[in-house]
Amino acid sequence: MFVANKDDHSVLAIDATRESKYTCPGCGQFVILRHGQTRLSHFAHHAGADCEVFSEGETQAHLTGKTRIFNWCRKNHLAVKLEAYLPELHQRPDILVNWHHHWTAIEFQCSPISLEKLSERTRGYYEHGYKVWWILGPTYLARKLTLEKLSKFSYFQKSLNLFISFYNPTNDQFLVKHHLTQDLFGKIRWVDYNFVPDKKAFNELFRQDNQYDVLKSYHAYREALELQRRLLGRYTDPRLRKVQNFCYLHHLNLAGCPWLIHGRLFEFPTGVTTPLEIKVRFLVKLTQVSSKRSFSYQEFFAWFEYISGSSMLKFPNVARQKINVEMNFQQFLAELLSNEVVQLDHECYRINKLPCWYRDLTQKLNFFPA
Ligand SMILES: [Zn+2]
Repeated sequence: MFVANKDDHSVLAIDATRESKYTCPGCGQFVILRHGQTRLSHFAHHAGADCEVFSEGETQAHLTGKTRIFNWCRKNHLAVKLEAYLPELHQRPDILVNWHHHWTAIEFQCSPISLEKLSERTRGYYEHGYKVWWILGPTYLARKLTLEKLSKFSYFQKSLNLFISFYNPTNDQFLVKHHLTQDLFGKIRWVDYNFVPDKKAFNELFRQDNQYDVLKSYHAYREALELQRRLLGRYTDPRLRKVQNFCYLHHLNLAGCPWLIHGRLFEFPTGVTTPLEIKVRFLVKLTQVSSKRSFSYQEFFAWFEYISGSSMLKFPNVARQKINVEMNFQQFLAELLSNEVVQLDHECYRINKLPCWYRDLTQKLNFFPA
């Protein structure tokens, strides 16, 4: 941390002297001053000190990042506070900045944080009228982006869709991974936007009327081949094997699954069940019910929800109505309607014609819809 207390005054580490004693504004315990040739001057708790307010491990990357972001805000004439202690929340954001007339806490996160802790802190900010922007440091950049990290730190904005922010203070590069989606196999996909932070770049980034054509590169044909390749591969993903076994039980070959399964990318990663499994099981379910019956929207959606499983991802930084499993369902339902698998009849759905399930990939490719 860069700011500590001395007799009820805040003191910056660079102005502090070894002769004086300083305390943590959060917990009140004495802290140590660290001056160094290579490290930035900062305060640290004694080893083993239990501080709830200030628990982030102070790596060099964290200190440098905080300093850079703070200096950047000042350079751009934004009202900004470094490590401002917010007593009503009992929290201390790395940076507090007035961005577009709104006080926003910036958390430059370099160390791991549990979902519970993150949700609690995020909620704290929102409840007290602050916004919070979690920006991830180099340690996160170096590691794989998992569904768990994605759900914790991502935001939703109209032009960027689901996005997550990274900053590398070493080369002063900002990276936004936007349009985060999950492909058929559950792999996370996104579009990179790399830039050196300046006001224009930020305004450009968040412009509402930006249009990104991210789904264009997608081809059903290629994906059908990819599915076959994965099924024949030496190491089959256990999630894929599970779907394959499900198909065998129903005397179906997964490689020959209907073309509409390769409709398009799912909009949102919502849980651990892969889109492939959800679609396959939904279609099989359709084959098991009578074509004479009609179904309400709610009934269909209940199937979809059930198949999606109970371990849904939680997005502490995204409003519930912005992203949920129902949106994925509506997309799939639209696909079923446009392929005339189901028909809408007086606000009820009726099964019209079941999609063709092919013997194998070869046969399936012969029927590639033009
Ligand atoms: Zn403390």
